[in-house]
Amino acid sequence: MILMQYKHTLKQEISLSGIGIHSGKNVTLKLKPSDSGEIFFIRTDLENLKFLIDPRKVITLNSSVLTSGDKKIQTIEHLMAALYMSGIDSLTIELDVGEVPIMDGSSLPFVKAIGTAGIKSLDKEKRAIRIEKPFMVEDGNGSISVKPYIGLKISYSIYYDHPLIGEQKCSIKADEKIFAREIAPARTFGFLKDVPALKEKNLAQGGSLENALVLDSKGLINGPLRFPDEFVRHKILDLIGDIALLGSPIFAHFLAKRAGHKLHLKAIRFIQKHKDYWTFA
Ligand SMILES: [Zn+2]
Repeated sequence: MILMQYKHTLKQEISLSGIGIHSGKNVTLKLKPSDSGEIFFIRTDLENLKFLIDPRKVITLNSSVLTSGDKKIQTIEHLMAALYMSGIDSLTIELDVGEVPIMDGSSLPFVKAIGTAGIKSLDKEKRAIRIEKPFMVEDGNGSISVKPYIGLKISYSIYYDHPLIGEQKCSIKADEKIFAREIAPARTFGFLKDVPALKEKNLAQGGSLENALVLDSKGLINGPLRFPDEFVRHKILDLIGDIALLGSPIFAHFLAKRAGHKLHLKAIRFIQKHKDYWTFA
């Protein structure tokens, strides 16, 4: 038996402020309850320009970037992961700058704010995408296999030639409670040696020891870690944020190896394009 699922929004508006890790700009984020049945972003600094969530409108530039024409909203993935795992699929997200604030580099501040505001059910039916046939996407170094599964499971492995990371593997059944406890607190990370090149590309302008784990050649500059394998857990968080771009819950097992936003998007676009690989549950 399949229980009827309904769409959800917030009970109350949430307002959060912080810095954009890439733009370096201060931003106010407002999450407003909506009964539209979909999530979209609005940039109040651009005459309320609307951004629809669609994997075809997302580009990857050290984060997942939502576009509308030549306008952008950077770093949407940690917020999108928190909304997806909270079951929120009807919301208006207002920003006064083209980037979601990085907060502490994780999804935890968003998860906590959603918990405080509360969630309410709408009289709109929601349907999940159920993967029926396995497929795989690859690039030079990495791969993502997607297989049928009841629920959402993610198995991720990463390898960095660094004494603190090396190979890390993590596999979780992604339900709301496990996500809040095991994945949402995992922070983004970066290497000190990459900072000059990033800044040259106008990225990481707002990066600091308060919003990212920063590694030098030997170890972590700003410990302690929240989990010994916080790095791979953050990659799972990023993948969930990219899965959220589908706009529907998904039943599948994602097995990602040495992947990143670019490959996540390749897998998500494959699902969007190949409707013969899935049915609505
Ligand atoms: Zn991230």
